[in-house]
Amino acid sequence: MSGSVVVVGNGVSGFACAARLADQGAAVTMIGPGLPHDRPPLSKRSLRTGRLPLLADAEQLEAKGIEHVDGVVTACDLARRRLVVSLTAGGTLDVEAPSLVWATGLRYPRPPIPGFERAEENATAVGLASLTQRLTVPGRRVVVVGAGLIGTETAATLAHEHDVTLVDMVDRPLARLLPRVSEAARTTLDSLHVRFLGSCSIDSASIDVHGAVLHTSTHGDIDCDVVVSAAGFRSSLPPELTGVDPRALTLPADEQLRVIGQDHLWACGDCVSFPHPRWGRIGIPHWDHALWSGRHVADAILGSSTPYVREPYFFSDIGSLRVQQVGFADAAVEWSDEDGLGVGRDEGGSAACVLLLNAPSRLRDARALVAAGSPRSPATTHA
Ligand SMILES: Cc1cc2nc3c(=O)[nH]c(=O)nc-3n(C[C@H](O)[C@H](O)[C@H](O)COP(=O)(O)OP(=O)(O)OC[C@H]3O[C@@H](n4cnc5c(N)ncnc54)[C@H](O)[C@@H]3O)c2cc1C
Repeated sequence: MSGSVVVVGNGVSGFACAARLADQGAAVTMIGPGLPHDRPPLSKRSLRTGRLPLLADAEQLEAKGIEHVDGVVTACDLARRRLVVSLTAGGTLDVEAPSLVWATGLRYPRPPIPGFERAEENATAVGLASLTQRLTVPGRRVVVVGAGLIGTETAATLAHEHDVTLVDMVDRPLARLLPRVSEAARTTLDSLHVRFLGSCSIDSASIDVHGAVLHTSTHGDIDCDVVVSAAGFRSSLPPELTGVDPRALTLPADEQLRVIGQDHLWACGDCVSFPHPRWGRIGIPHWDHALWSGRHVADAILGSSTPYVREPYFFSDIGSLRVQQVGFADAAVEWSDEDGLGVGRDEGGSAACVLLLNAPSRLRDARALVAAGSPRSPATTHA
């Protein structure tokens, strides 16, 4: 089988790339398990409805002109430009890939805690289906393990119908984000009656269909009905692409998102890093970048030489709390409240990052401020 562009990965960025290529009349094959679907709703609306947020069904893919191979790439020969796909229906398929786009995102494996392999998860379509089936009766005692963005959102969503405990080995939810985001999240979780157990060390778990016990060295045994794993992420990249660093999360690409040293290979979404003109080489594991980098790769393959310069951005919905952040928080050395925006300024006094808490109408202002790298305003208050 041959096609001019092969996209490996059928998530947000892979589908965005394939759809753009098809819209422009290019022949495109997209490889990935099941139908393409969105990710953010898996810890929000879909968790309550049980419905998978499809980006396109089989008819829509065909109408667009996207050939979908339902399976996963298990071997990749870059020199010969050939892939081996393990098909969902069984068997394997050899695919010729003259131009190749890598868009396999991240993996969300369960942590290596004895007994934890039977925990539920909601970062995948299969996980969502299994978890929602366990939660059809309200009032279940649910323990969510991992208080990052996915775990914190999941705990807040499930708290509408269930008795939820959120645990983490660190002492506050969203510990990797700005303290004010962490505090706002904690307040929201409290209002939803989510119990947060911080500094919790889980030694092992006993989990079956009837219930679960988490054995901890810090909080004794925690009994519950359902355990949800939301603890961290890993690389999805195969050794043929990562080379010397098997744990690399991203493929290093140039300004057009072409993988460095590989003429016919592009990457987009969570699994690419690129040279941002202001922040240097970064990866952005968030939805907005997945969408725009996917489209950018399609345009680059079709001949555009425009550099990819999208500013980092993420949103998160924790119950009724909407968090949005534009820019690069690591570059901010001083934070202030300016006209209702949380503004982080870099060493030169320019806006490096803007945080919005429940202020979605200010997103345009936030983007403009970071884009302008505005000079420091005279009256700032430290926060
Ligand atoms: C539960 C959840 C909630 C999220 N919420 C938010 C949010 O609120 N805001 C936000 O900004 N971001 C959020 N994100 C992050 C955002 O969704 C991701 O950044 C985005 O989906 C990345 O797109 P991607 O295409 O790189 O990867 P993905 O969308 O993860 O897609 C990768 C696809 O590649 C497939 N694949 C993997 N390996 C292979 C292979 N070998 N062969 C073929 N296919 C393969 C996978 O099955 C998957 O379908 C969330 C993520 C998750 C999981």
